[in-house]
Amino acid sequence: MILGIESSCDESALAVFDPTFGIRWEKVSTQIDLHAVYGGVVPDLASREHLAAFELLMEECRNQDAFKHIERLAVTCGPGLASCLAIGLALAQAISNATTKPLCGVNHLMGHAFSPFIPLHRSSPAQFEADFRRLLPHLGLIVSGGNTMLIEVATDRSIRVIASTVDDAAGEALDKGAKLLGLGYPGGPRIEELARQSTQPFAHPFPVSFPNPEDLKFSFAGLKTSLRYTLEKLSDDALESNLASICFSYQQAVVDQLIRKTRQVLKSGRYRSIGLSGGVANNTPLREAFVHTGRKSGVPALVADKRHTGDNASMIAFAAWIQPPGILHHTADSPLGFHPSMRL
Ligand code: ADP
Ligand code: MG
Repeated sequence: MILGIESSCDESALAVFDPTFGIRWEKVSTQIDLHAVYGGVVPDLASREHLAAFELLMEECRNQDAFKHIERLAVTCGPGLASCLAIGLALAQAISNATTKPLCGVNHLMGHAFSPFIPLHRSSPAQFEADFRRLLPHLGLIVSGGNTMLIEVATDRSIRVIASTVDDAAGEALDKGAKLLGLGYPGGPRIEELARQSTQPFAHPFPVSFPNPEDLKFSFAGLKTSLRYTLEKLSDDALESNLASICFSYQQAVVDQLIRKTRQVLKSGRYRSIGLSGGVANNTPLREAFVHTGRKSGVPALVADKRHTGDNASMIAFAAWIQPPGILHHTADSPLGFHPSMRL
């Protein structure tokens, strides 16, 4: 079994992954309320919280039967906040040294990239290798607060970035949009909740970025600016009565761009499956549109479980088990370090 450790941003998480069964135990301790007051993550506070949270998480983890069967460890070594990554890494190295179990470092984005395959593994662990191989090459859409990218998982399990954002990430656009609308942080869930109450879209066309198939790029900054100009023209009363429909249209504009680019890349006919992951993958309209895209294109659409869309340690342990190229091994000669700006 593999013990996963994640601390790249504002969530401390541990998980035990059993290749013959699935996830035996997992827990995420989130700091969202602590940072909400400041409208974003405060690194110093985050690392203090990680220190306190891992003490409690470790105590609980040690009491699990699965803990006795851990054979190796996997920790997020980047990208993320330096002071936060350092705490997860120190914990992992301490456990590894004390128990002499091997330790490896996993790119957080690699964790997201493979997370849509976790439900497939759980449904039939013995069949997984064969099923997984049949689904490659795979096209993954990773959407979070800090990243928006289409990636390819090749048949050798290596990952290549196909398209990424030239400015804001999709989650960032939702968070900034929510801030303009006075909805608080994080914005994605608040916008989704309000959008659900709308029966009609707001009569305002949001701009479409990079509509051409050959532009392998996303852009969300124009969307946010367009929302700002729209709001400047609205009275307080008009904003209040149109709030739900504005949220609906804004969310739809984000979803449309993500889905359009996915479809354009999928047209190459190269991919045997598509996957959706990252914090924004929590969004129900996006999940539905993604599954619909798969159905229309005749490829299986794998969507990460909601509990594995945000930061979690299960995806880190799972990615370590998949063993894609790029996993870093902690050895006496080359000890694992943290890489705040690590890329895929
Ligand atoms: P990162 O680690 O890059 O900060 P996460 O993977 O933790 O990002 O995801 C956080 C992002 O997901 C935030 O931008 C948040 O607004 C967005 N998000 C969370 N839930 C939803 C939702 N239901 N709909 C849309 N966006 C969401
Ligand atoms: Mg996060």
